Amino acid sequence: MYPKIKLELFIRLVKRRRLSVAATVRQTVGETLQRQMVLEIVRQNEGHLTADEIYLLASEQLSSISRSTVYRNLNILAERGLVVAVNAPERPTFFDRNTEPHHHAVCVSCGMLLDIPADGFDVRSLVPPGYEVVSASLIVNCICARCGEGMSGALDESGGTAADGRAQADASAAADGRA
Ligand SMILES: [Zn+2]
Ligand SMILES: [Zn+2]
Repeated sequence: MYPKIKLELFIRLVKRRRLSVAATVRQTVGETLQRQMVLEIVRQNEGHLTADEIYLLASEQLSSISRSTVYRNLNILAERGLVVAVNAPERPTFFDRNTEPHHHAVCVSCGMLLDIPADGFDVRSLVPPGYEVVSASLIVNCICARCGEGMSGALDESGGTAADGRAQADASAAADGRA
């Protein structure tokens, strides 16, 4: 489950903007405040959220917020570099609070998206001489440890490295923050 965004946060945001809570109830919250709320939702979640997931969390805080408002604000936040839009093939766009350069591993079975540190792998070695790398974000298609364990368990009941597989699955689940 995703960590719930606390109602206090939203009230705090409202107060900071000198709007009354009653104004929120009347659902006259301005564009800037809605964008701030969308940003806070992305920042408070460790994993990578789709626009739909962000919309659902936002609508828990502000029932009147529309899907198009959330989508529009996500695109604005991404343009401003406050969140990163991650486009993995055949997946919805994920929004990432981690704006540091990094890569992603995506599980082609369950869709789980995991950060891979950008250091330790020099993408400049991939491009021809004379090309200057401006930015790079790699998507590595994987079978995650948990899905791999399920597949090998179905094929082979003998056990073998099951304990290792479980440890990896736990580690990736913890890192993903969605377990
Ligand atoms: Zn998986
Ligand atoms: Zn990421």
